[in-house]
Amino acid sequence: MSWKIQDNHMNQEQLLVNESLFALGNGYLGVRGNFEEGYTEDMTSIRGTYINAYHDETAMEYGEKLHGFPDTQQKLVNIIDSQTIYIYVDGERFTMFEGDILSYTRTLHLNKGYSEREIHWKSPSGKEVKFRFQRLVSFSRKELFAQKVTIEAVSETNEIVITSAVNGDISNFVDPSDPRVASGHAKRLRVVEAEAGETGPTVLNETYETKLRVCCASNSVINSGDYNYNVVENGSSIEEIFRFTPASSVSFTRFNIFTDTYRHGEDLKHAAWHVQNELKSSTFEDLITEQTDYLNAFWSKADIEIEGDDSLQQGIRFNLYQLLQSAGKDSVSNISAKGLSGEGYEGHYFWDTEIYMFPVFLMTQPEIAKQLLLHRFSLLDDAKSRAMEVGHRQGALFPWRTITGSECSGFFPAGTAQYHISADIAYSFVQYYLVTKDVSFLRDYGAEVLAETARLWIDTGHEKDGKFLIDDVTGPDEYTCIVNNNFYTNVMAKNNLKWAVKSLELIKEADQQAFEKLAGKLNVSEAEIREWEQAAEKMYLPYDESLGIHAQDDTFLNKQVWNLEQTPAEKFPLLLHYHPLTLYRYQVCKQADTVLAHFLLEDEADLETIRRSYNYYEKVTTHDSSLSYCVFSIMAAKLGYDDKAYNYFIETARLDLDNTHKNTKDGLHMANMGGTWLALVYGFAGLRVKEDSLLFNPRLPLQWDKLKFTIQYMGRTLQVGLHKGKTVYTLNEGKELVISHKGEKVTVSKEAPVELNS
Ligand code: BGC
Repeated sequence: MSWKIQDNHMNQEQLLVNESLFALGNGYLGVRGNFEEGYTEDMTSIRGTYINAYHDETAMEYGEKLHGFPDTQQKLVNIIDSQTIYIYVDGERFTMFEGDILSYTRTLHLNKGYSEREIHWKSPSGKEVKFRFQRLVSFSRKELFAQKVTIEAVSETNEIVITSAVNGDISNFVDPSDPRVASGHAKRLRVVEAEAGETGPTVLNETYETKLRVCCASNSVINSGDYNYNVVENGSSIEEIFRFTPASSVSFTRFNIFTDTYRHGEDLKHAAWHVQNELKSSTFEDLITEQTDYLNAFWSKADIEIEGDDSLQQGIRFNLYQLLQSAGKDSVSNISAKGLSGEGYEGHYFWDTEIYMFPVFLMTQPEIAKQLLLHRFSLLDDAKSRAMEVGHRQGALFPWRTITGSECSGFFPAGTAQYHISADIAYSFVQYYLVTKDVSFLRDYGAEVLAETARLWIDTGHEKDGKFLIDDVTGPDEYTCIVNNNFYTNVMAKNNLKWAVKSLELIKEADQQAFEKLAGKLNVSEAEIREWEQAAEKMYLPYDESLGIHAQDDTFLNKQVWNLEQTPAEKFPLLLHYHPLTLYRYQVCKQADTVLAHFLLEDEADLETIRRSYNYYEKVTTHDSSLSYCVFSIMAAKLGYDDKAYNYFIETARLDLDNTHKNTKDGLHMANMGGTWLALVYGFAGLRVKEDSLLFNPRLPLQWDKLKFTIQYMGRTLQVGLHKGKTVYTLNEGKELVISHKGEKVTVSKEAPVELNS
């Protein structure tokens, strides 16, 4: 069961949730798990197909627009629909909501990369028919969404008609009552061409403003049954009609190929037909084999085994699978907050990537991690322009949310003001270096990002009484905005400045000439480097003596404490029920802030401060953001709060599978999914990547018999198994390695696994 997600619910709410849970994708293309045959008129469905980064631009609307507010924003566009397949059995149209469903299961195969629906249906007039709908979005041919339908008439039937449609007349979903979903600009695409050519229907669309094109070429192959064919074109959609008479069993495969301007240049139709051609002799079963091979390679590096709780085992595999499906693997895309599973947050990329998802790829699929960094690097020039736009004289200010690099947040207190995103991005470049020790990557990309973000901090902050202060920014906690000296921001900026200096030193050490060339390119002088070093040293980290904790910012601890116990359950998440100013006036956190800083940079505080901080901030945190639980789980594990660590972990592991945040219909919570992995590896196994080695502090939850995972580190593949009472380290690939296990240095080599008490 742990390699499968299964469901047989048919109620409206769960159907929408399942559209996200059963979404298929490959980082380029994403298709929601909608029913091919559609629903009844009165039902809601968010029918969606998306291409990562394929977007339109709309005017940002403000009542009062001030200087430096973005004029436009970007929006992931719901593209041409090729999911639709209507089936008529002796004139009765099949839907799951008319007639009787004698049996129904939907399954997502996490190790084979496809989903299927198996239905035994009794039509309103009493005819029994079995259907099997299979679909996949290919990992090895990014343009391909394939469907197979198998129909078996149990009762005698005279005629089965299949109508297979490609529709270019598509709108996005809007929900004006939820700030996390777009509220307007539903229609962003126009049909350029829709033709039923020799190779099957081809529809070409274009966005209104960005003029980006997308093409879908669909090709249907009848695997069994005799039929008549005709086609209906209406300008924006094409319906192919296959009439089988007599009919008892029919099987039909459809190959839908999507191409877009970003990846396929000018001639999208030919690019799509070219892929069609390559698939000429492939069957759906061949594609499943291809998917399985791809996934075998993925799981051999990424799988995590939990023994002792099947539902959590299923949760972590599902989350890892969805991360793989969502991660952009080319130079124009990243991972949006909802992946390619829905329209929440409009397909935008946030800090979610760097802090919550990037580490998973870094430690299991470093090539994807590198690609994610390269994508951010490609937005550096925009970040430099943005810094100028908001009034800086230098530096790079990365946008809070974006697709192609421009700021897409219209609410600056919880948007642009989250300057920490620039330090988060810098942090991920440092993490990449620490795990790969690749100085050339630092030289070619990392150092520049570190230098430009360091310049931002110098320009944003100022020195007073020997302290470096950063005023008027917002930390991760979006219930506390525009504050002075947010501890998280300051400590991350400190790390950013420190590593801007260090990266140049490392490059210099490795290659003096390369250093000089880079210094010339960056126009950086020795004096500027010293300025960064000084700012880092003098960085002010607010600390409250009486509580013995780091204050979230200069004023947080002076505010009234929000009474969470007296707040009715239906008032959560608070952001949907209270004006932001009300929230800002209280000590109440949407998500981990100081506690997150203590995780990312644990050497900046002693253990007892970290413990007191955890105890304090836990009481004022709502976890209204799904990015919160995993951090509390990791830190609870570090502090030996085993029950808490376990309970917070449970919240992350099945958040979408169990729809605990009640908005999975808008798409999956990708950062939380990364957080599940972090909670297992950084939390229970206690991994930390230090400059000179890897540290482990394993604590297997009492409830489990085993936790096993694999990581990549400096060209090595290391497997770590936590068992009751012992931990086993196995080096599967690479040169011997010295790690630290509970503070003790241990050498692990390929010769034999190392078994230690824990
Ligand atoms: C969180 C942010 C996050 C965004 C996208 C918000 O609810 O507060 O930290 O980046 O969602 O996931």
